[in-house]
Amino acid sequence: MKRRDFLANAIVLGTGARLGAQPAAFDLVIARGRVIDPSTRLDAIADVGIRAGRVAAVSRTPLRAARTIDARGLVVAPGFIDLHAHGQDLENNRAQAMDGVTTALELETGPADIPAWYAAREGQRLLNYGACVGHIAVRNLVMSGRPTTGFNQQLDLEAAKRPPNERQQQEIVARVAQGLRDGALSVGFGVQYVPGTSRLELLALFRAAAEAGAMCGVHQRYAGTVEPDGLAGVEELIAAAAATGAHVHIEHITSNTARLVREALRLVEGARARGVRVTCDTHPYTAAMTRIETAVFDPGWQERFEISHGDLEWAETGERLTEATFARYRATGGSVVIHMMREEDVTAAVAHPLTAIISDGELTNGRGHPRSSGTFCRVLGRYARERQALTLPEAIRKMTLHPAQILEGRVRAMRRKGRLVPGADADIVVFDAATVIDRADYTHPAAPSVGMRHVLVHGTSVVRDGALVADARPGRAVRVGLGA
Ligand SMILES: [Zn+2]
Repeated sequence: MKRRDFLANAIVLGTGARLGAQPAAFDLVIARGRVIDPSTRLDAIADVGIRAGRVAAVSRTPLRAARTIDARGLVVAPGFIDLHAHGQDLENNRAQAMDGVTTALELETGPADIPAWYAAREGQRLLNYGACVGHIAVRNLVMSGRPTTGFNQQLDLEAAKRPPNERQQQEIVARVAQGLRDGALSVGFGVQYVPGTSRLELLALFRAAAEAGAMCGVHQRYAGTVEPDGLAGVEELIAAAAATGAHVHIEHITSNTARLVREALRLVEGARARGVRVTCDTHPYTAAMTRIETAVFDPGWQERFEISHGDLEWAETGERLTEATFARYRATGGSVVIHMMREEDVTAAVAHPLTAIISDGELTNGRGHPRSSGTFCRVLGRYARERQALTLPEAIRKMTLHPAQILEGRVRAMRRKGRLVPGADADIVVFDAATVIDRADYTHPAAPSVGMRHVLVHGTSVVRDGALVADARPGRAVRVGLGA
């Protein structure tokens, strides 16, 4: 069905129900909440009627159903969409659900084998899932023969620093194009982890993505304030997008540009004003996290990031590093938290209308960066409510409609997400705006957020009355060309 027909149908059904033509026409009604829908700018007390996993009506007059969620005093909004969720297992889904996430996508370090990635998750997730085809993974496979899903132990650090020869480059491009044909949501890059990526290679991949209408989500080349600095990385991507016509999405723009983030956002604004397809996102923390053995920590990192060993925190234990422990851990490899950003820069990025909110998170046996568990409720509780850096409806927009719109050009399934209108997927959060907040910190990164009273995925509860429904599996694939 064409999108227009489909939406028209849904609206007709919604109207019929509103007029009472079919009493109890809904499976579930979320009643009398403050409904905030960024797509219609609705911010009013209303009922949301759900049928067969979709929103069937949004009505200011009460609706009837067999089952009702009493949302008086609570906010009802579309479920949050995380465009940068490395955590793609049940442990991470549990933390994400308590944080209000209903769709968790891996758009940076995706796999090389898209069908296998999706097959491994089918029917087994709390939340909706999806992935990019990952340049890191494809490149590593082509250049060293080893499969990897990102910047983990399988990444060949020597091959990462080598540019491909002509045959290798052709194979990298061909495999990425195949990933897109297999339904990958976008092309994901982590150029900082594979600094051998040549300009020619990047441009060839942007051209392939542009041809498929696919977004290039990029963890850029370069970071920090020493030339070539974080802005040079932003400029490379804007130039590549302008010249090839590809849509470039600059990932965690704050992590790479840090003190230069305001200027980086001005570059994005200026390029957009001149017709370049560029979008970006940020997470709401002053610390980044990555693997210590990667090129990020090649000599000169102290100057680049304006930090020293004591600003590094070993994720597994929470200990701060010294010159000696840095050398030891860099030899063995593992995750490290990098305390490197100023709060004023993070606040400016979180509040900026162009950034989508993302987590960049991943928990492993309860360890990791607190952003894995707390990103979305942190923005609602600390940045919107406490500091009033942005309004509540604007915060919600940056977690729902905005990320959906970033992807929906090619990913049609996203046109039904991020909004509360008839026909939309019933991915919905019901939360207490007065108390919602993150609890995870660097010592307790898995501490769940509080304030989410109900979280629904396709109309099924994954959080009910503030408690996780751990055995629910309503998560569905978000994939191009299949049911979208
Ligand atoms: Zn990244």
